[in-house]
Amino acid sequence: MKGKLATLRIDDLLLDQEVVNKKKVGRLVKKLSEKKSIKAIRVFYCVHEAMYNIVDGHHRVFAAYNLGITSILSIVEPCYTYECTGNTPDWDFFHVRNVRAA
Ligand SMILES: [Zn+2]
Repeated sequence: MKGKLATLRIDDLLLDQEVVNKKKVGRLVKKLSEKKSIKAIRVFYCVHEAMYNIVDGHHRVFAAYNLGITSILSIVEPCYTYECTGNTPDWDFFHVRNVRAA
């Protein structure tokens, strides 16, 4: 699957985990602080719910958010490639402000 490259506002992204790995975040914070580039995250856009859900990149988003970075390079795919049929997903989702590292 390909997806479109876009810079998305971190505020618009949803995570499906409430806790991220502290060590992993630490490494990414260091990388970002040194102005090194990080891999684009992967998200799917739910055309039914109008929400961006992170598939890969929870730690990158968390690290960037906590450094005050407001947008992030993303590869975006529509939700139906993930077989979304528009029903409210049965997983919990969180805004990055409600996520913690442990
Ligand atoms: Zn959908």
